[in-house]
Amino acid sequence: MEKYALELKNIYHEFETSIAVNDVSISIEQGEVVCLLGPSGCGKSTTLRLAAGLEKVQAGEIYLNGNLVSSIESQIPPEQRDVGLVFQDYALFPHLSVIENTKFGLKKHSQKIAERRALDALKMVNMDSYSQSYPHTLSGGEQQRVALARAMAPKPKVMLLDEPYSGLDARLRDNIRDEVLHLLKANECATLMVTHDSEEAMFMADRIVMMQEGRIIQTGKPEELYCNPVNAFVAGFFGELNFVDGVVVEKGVDSDLGLLPSRDFKIGDKVEVVARPEALSIREKPCINEEKKAVVVESKLLGRSSLIHLSLPIHSKGGNKNKHLHARVPGVVLPRPGAIVGVELDLSQVFVFKK
Ligand code: ATP
Repeated sequence: MEKYALELKNIYHEFETSIAVNDVSISIEQGEVVCLLGPSGCGKSTTLRLAAGLEKVQAGEIYLNGNLVSSIESQIPPEQRDVGLVFQDYALFPHLSVIENTKFGLKKHSQKIAERRALDALKMVNMDSYSQSYPHTLSGGEQQRVALARAMAPKPKVMLLDEPYSGLDARLRDNIRDEVLHLLKANECATLMVTHDSEEAMFMADRIVMMQEGRIIQTGKPEELYCNPVNAFVAGFFGELNFVDGVVVEKGVDSDLGLLPSRDFKIGDKVEVVARPEALSIREKPCINEEKKAVVVESKLLGRSSLIHLSLPIHSKGGNKNKHLHARVPGVVLPRPGAIVGVELDLSQVFVFKK
């Protein structure tokens, strides 16, 4: 049997009012970064707290390096697990300075080595100049950076991170998460990280575990979840979507966006077609042929791309209607409102799900 660095087996945890974690199994190899992704309240933090030993499992088992650390019968406390933790409520020790906090997990090393490793970790998060400060004099984001340094300094083989960059502004976050990722990889650390930000998960993760209402709904490499989502919920977690109706006919899926390839559906099935705004490209001089045409409602430059709001005429039983769609196109593309444009689809960014 393969020995994983961290293994959660069928874990379950409920609170008085809700089931927070329902039959969750996750195995993480040495050196692998796994992100738990999902909306607020889906059970990510509880899963991580169970892995850390901060909550008791009510069913299932947790193993570190093949050793049982949590089950209904027994539970090894967090401080004896040799795991790096960054949790919102796993605060810095208020009576210790920044450097003393960072040296906390380095007690088995000589003073000299502990000092050097703590300073290196503080440098990584740009906090070395605060080494003599006390936590109450630091901002929330600065405390979070010290907590990251404290967790990383002993170079643990397993790391549990709960929204570790949430208090940092965008530029600092980009720098620090890059440093953290490379350090985790250099130390071959098995990492389970909670985030609700899909881009952050894609940046950090070798694998993403997507949760909804306490359950895992899809696990895979970031590109698998992005390119082959199992449902509209997963697809929608990676960005805004356009929704149109469709029905399966002999030649494929007849939808308001045209005829699309069908998968394993039956003729007559009603389906939901979801298209990322990036799937829609526009042709400012539409062809006279069967190409779908839409009217431009608004054009907005967003920086690297432009967002075109479109009104697509659709035919329904109740008469003709219009569907509002968004097309995101690279660069500066700003057709005037009222213009009629052709709409083309990149099928790799269009998904069809049974209703
Ligand atoms: P967020 O991203 O908002 O932190 P999450 O995905 O991490 O959310 P959890 O914090 O694990 O979700 O919460 C899962 C469910 O368990 C929620 O319904 C939450 O209200 C509930 N819950 C969490 N902690 C407790 C607690 N200590 N007592 C009661 N219910 C709790």
